[in-house]
Amino acid sequence: MNRIRLLVFNPVLSVLDYRLPPHLSVEPGSLVVAPLGPRQVLGIVWEPERLPGEEVPDAKLRPILEVLPVRPLAAPLRRLIEWCADYYVAPMNSVARMALGSMAALRGGGTTTEYRLSGLEPKRLTPQRAAAMDALHGEQASIRELAEYAGVSEGVLRGMVGAGILEPVTVDLDRPYPHAQADFAVPELSEAQQAAADTFVAAVKARVFQPFLLDGVTGSGKTECYFEAIAEAIREQRQVLVLLPEIALTENFLRRFEARFGTPPVLWHSSLKASERRRAWRAIVSGEAQVVVGARSALFLPYARLGLIVVDEAHEVSFKQDDGVRYNARDVAVIRARFEGIPVILASATPALESLQLAEAGVYRKIDLPDRFGGASLPDVQVVDLRKEVPERGHWLAPRLVAEMKARLERGEQSLLFLNRRGYAPLTLCRHCGYRFQCPNCSAWLVEHRLSRRLACHHCGHEVPVPDACPECGTGDCLVACGPGVERIADEVTEVLPEARVAVVTSDTLNSPEKISEFVAAAEQKLIDVIVGTQLVTKGYHFPELTLVGVVDADLGLEGGDLRAAERTYQQVAQVAGRAGRGEKPGEVLIQTRHPEAAVIAALVAGDRDAFYAAEADGRRDAGAPPFGRWAAIIVSSEDEAEARSAARAIGGAAPNLPDVLILGPAPAPLALLRGRYRYRLLINARRSAKLQDVIREWLGALSFPQGVRVSVDIDPYSFV
Ligand code: ADP
Ligand code: ZN
Repeated sequence: MNRIRLLVFNPVLSVLDYRLPPHLSVEPGSLVVAPLGPRQVLGIVWEPERLPGEEVPDAKLRPILEVLPVRPLAAPLRRLIEWCADYYVAPMNSVARMALGSMAALRGGGTTTEYRLSGLEPKRLTPQRAAAMDALHGEQASIRELAEYAGVSEGVLRGMVGAGILEPVTVDLDRPYPHAQADFAVPELSEAQQAAADTFVAAVKARVFQPFLLDGVTGSGKTECYFEAIAEAIREQRQVLVLLPEIALTENFLRRFEARFGTPPVLWHSSLKASERRRAWRAIVSGEAQVVVGARSALFLPYARLGLIVVDEAHEVSFKQDDGVRYNARDVAVIRARFEGIPVILASATPALESLQLAEAGVYRKIDLPDRFGGASLPDVQVVDLRKEVPERGHWLAPRLVAEMKARLERGEQSLLFLNRRGYAPLTLCRHCGYRFQCPNCSAWLVEHRLSRRLACHHCGHEVPVPDACPECGTGDCLVACGPGVERIADEVTEVLPEARVAVVTSDTLNSPEKISEFVAAAEQKLIDVIVGTQLVTKGYHFPELTLVGVVDADLGLEGGDLRAAERTYQQVAQVAGRAGRGEKPGEVLIQTRHPEAAVIAALVAGDRDAFYAAEADGRRDAGAPPFGRWAAIIVSSEDEAEARSAARAIGGAAPNLPDVLILGPAPAPLALLRGRYRYRLLINARRSAKLQDVIREWLGALSFPQGVRVSVDIDPYSFV
């Protein structure tokens, strides 16, 4: 039979049948180009029995046009795509899209022209050319990318090509990556580390599905242990995927990887240049990319010979994707490992309650590293009760914290202050009329950024310069900043310790690999006395002279009524505390709070993780929350308020009445306006026994909505806003 079924990449249609012309041959997973109306569409050949669609009569079938010259998507990846579409109630082609590179990558081969500075030093330069020359040192890319990077027009750069200042370089698009060497620099492991490493190595050799939870305190050498598993995979010529929660962490990781294996791994994340992306994708598909380090999107790529997946900092919230296909990369990593028949390691010092539960149930094998490497001890944790130890008026640091920082400064040691709030102040208002600066597109205040003199929305990116006068009443010089962000804390440090060298570390200040490297180098060389940072500094970094951590406001994360608020606070504080005392000198942690009696604070002080998790588990069991029950959210949005509301009401009106499913709402979402769209939300709490996805599919499938309305389903939601 020459009839084939395709999963096609079209927003409206997703399953179409075609005829296979005699001169072409395909197998399930082949990538093909087919006609669709007057246009062409990309498709993946799929097993018809696994992809229900409408039967088209033979006579009406059109022939496909071309089979693309890439390896077909293997069966385990196809099963993963089906699983995700089913579990996350997402369109299958949206999931499959994440496996593909660009169209250019699919066609492969060829060369491209990139440009770099030729070394020619012209006598006279226009200011723009001079600026471009400064910016482009060591860079090589297309004119468009260089223009973007240097912040000049493409015309300026083309002029520089004409003048010989930039020279063209022909680049093989698929040029190979250097090889990682399994035994480049083998560390001497401690006994506990060796035992963990041996277990992982054996699992890589065995080539069967095995999920591990590597539960080791901060500084115990989790990375060193899973590096041994990576080494084994390299020896066996199997590929490895390492997922990291944040690109900011990769810099540190790359350096360690290179020191261990002699060459950096292959990187995959959303801000790769088009040519890098394409090269990486080709190398992943061919099997030539040995170790791929990436953000969650690397999870769906078509690895030729995957032998191991590592999810580092597996508890991190950023593994949860909150738009498009709303999946959790940590969970999907385990599913992928199952389909591929390979081991997967989830590494964390503060595992999610869900992960601990699965370990307890025997689903994950738990590997413990209870001690810091090299005899370093865990830091001493104390509470600063802000109701009794009151900071000076208009200040946020209690006298004891300031005194401890001063002592560190005098001893030449470093301090770290943690506050998970970017910018200078979270709210700005007019002293005269009370006007508050709000985002026009979102239900959120504008955050003052004093370094860049702007008011910015952290949800949609809307920005305005800080005005001189109140836009409402016109009074000049009347704006007051309310509450602290990291920039304001940094100012306070400078005020109380004028000689301290202070660094602010947020995604605003550390927004490129170069800046991250600079920061790490400066901190290691003791050119920084006090680091003030957001969650960006809570993990990954290892500064031996850092002996004091101050948590500026431990209560911040507990506000907002988020289901996992306590757990998240515990994780954040435990992680940031883990930055202290990693070298020979012991560390100390001061937690500023108004609620020292809260279970999470008490557990942090006592260093009693088990007690915290036990209390948390009890609370969740009572609330029917994960892992004991399940949540899902339906989010309805439209640019038109009334339209969003009526669609949400229609969904609420059609809600099924089932004994094991509780439906709450619709209600305006806490973020009722986001990026110009009005949002309503329904929450679904289900027993574990309920067929949650089927219920939602059936419920929503029977309804239809106006064009401007978007309805999205979030299974196992993290954010309730
Ligand atoms: P974790 O990921 O558990 O926080 P790391 O793997 O980052 O721990 O290890 C903490 C520090 O100790 C790192 O600087 C690491 O290089 C060092 N370290 C850990 N184990 C060893 C070892 N066996 N030999 C040498 N250095 C080690
Ligand atoms: Zn906004």
